[in-house]
Amino acid sequence: MKTLFLNPPSFDGFDGGAGSRYQARREIRSFWYPTWLAQPAAMVPDSRLVDAPARGLSLEDVLPLGAGFELLILHTSTPSFASDVKIAEAFKARHPHLQIGLVGPHVSVLPEPSLLASAAVDFVTIGEFDETVREIAEGRPFESIDGLCYKADGKALRTSPRGIIEDLDRLPHVVDVYARDLVIEDYFIGYLLHPYVSIYTGRGCRSRCTFCLWPQTIGGHRYRTRSPGNVAEEVARIQLRFPQAKEIFFDDDTFTDDLPRVEATARLLGKLGVTWSCNAKANVPFDTLKLLRENGLRLLLVGFESGSQQILNNVRKGTTIEAARRFMSDCHRLGIVVHGTFIVGLPGETRETIRETIAFAKQINPHTLQVSLAAAYPGTELYRQGIENGWLAQSGCMVSAQGVQVSSLSYPHLDAAEISRGLESFYRSFYFRPGKMLEMFGEMLRSPEMMKRRLREGKEFLRFLSNREERV
Ligand code: SF4
Repeated sequence: MKTLFLNPPSFDGFDGGAGSRYQARREIRSFWYPTWLAQPAAMVPDSRLVDAPARGLSLEDVLPLGAGFELLILHTSTPSFASDVKIAEAFKARHPHLQIGLVGPHVSVLPEPSLLASAAVDFVTIGEFDETVREIAEGRPFESIDGLCYKADGKALRTSPRGIIEDLDRLPHVVDVYARDLVIEDYFIGYLLHPYVSIYTGRGCRSRCTFCLWPQTIGGHRYRTRSPGNVAEEVARIQLRFPQAKEIFFDDDTFTDDLPRVEATARLLGKLGVTWSCNAKANVPFDTLKLLRENGLRLLLVGFESGSQQILNNVRKGTTIEAARRFMSDCHRLGIVVHGTFIVGLPGETRETIRETIAFAKQINPHTLQVSLAAAYPGTELYRQGIENGWLAQSGCMVSAQGVQVSSLSYPHLDAAEISRGLESFYRSFYFRPGKMLEMFGEMLRSPEMMKRRLREGKEFLRFLSNREERV
């Protein structure tokens, strides 16, 4: 079947289901690559991948595309689900011949209600969906395809569960789909060089953080990896197809989870002479960091989450504040740039722990940071705890009408509005201090390109903060 993979249009600037861990509109306009859709697109001949939010495409822009396809795959997420179903309905109304399926963690966790949410949806996938979609596109009968929930006589039927893919080396590379269907300049991330290219080299994370969406819904808790040689091959291809790319980002949940493998991969990357960055946990030993740095590592994206050891324990982060301090001092020493991510509103949060976390962030001083509101996604341990303890906020929403994250949790001693205010004061305290402002200013003075970029981002950031103030 001729297949269209669509990251659907949504809120303006919405960094949606495809490849994003927190689906929301960002503080500054930014988009992750739709790698999760690009992977099956690479396995289905003559398919096409359209990333509507990143391209700035509206429903009216993408709707006519349905005429040239037989199968439409939409990547959906919990915050965008209602809007994605409307997109499916619009496609079905205009192109009744289209088979329409939804993929992603949300439908994987809630297959029946998602399928029955609309007559326009013909099936949803459960678990990793690459092979499932490939088999559907081959025209196999639904009942013979594992990992599917489909309609028969208006009822939802499930097929057998699909096992996860063990040998990731057998998956085709996504870079040729990027080259065919995407414009890499569309993909901005504040802390990455522009343009960048992002790929996965493995799936799953060994940690068990209670709030984390992907390992608890799709990827699992084993880190399955491609071989270093396979990764280097794709990176060499990126260099060939996108000579303008300034950086490669490895978006594995925790690229540093397997130390011998990350070291072997880094040695090959060093030979290719690329600049690269990745996700990491704050527990990588100095010698490994040094080797990575010597082989092209520029930046680590690190989930510190909180400056309170009790909260880290509550969410089973598996790291300590002391180890994080040591790790940061190693990174500073080696010249590795760190983008730290933090969460406000995790279980155990109080006004005091918010202050503690802000002070911790200032002390360890990552170059940039991102603060998210704790989000209880269906399928996570945090969601289960939220239901059990009555912590889910009354609105039941994860994003506002504009697609900006709102607190989905509320505690008797700390309500959703206070949690949101905590986020705002976190940003203000971290960025609006003389040392950090001088650092940013120095960066701008050193590069006219950075000057242009930071001015745009600064404007967007200030607008984001003032809009948030109005909402709180
Ligand atoms: S270490 Fe990071 S990717 Fe792994 S479970 Fe925790 S938050 Fe998720």
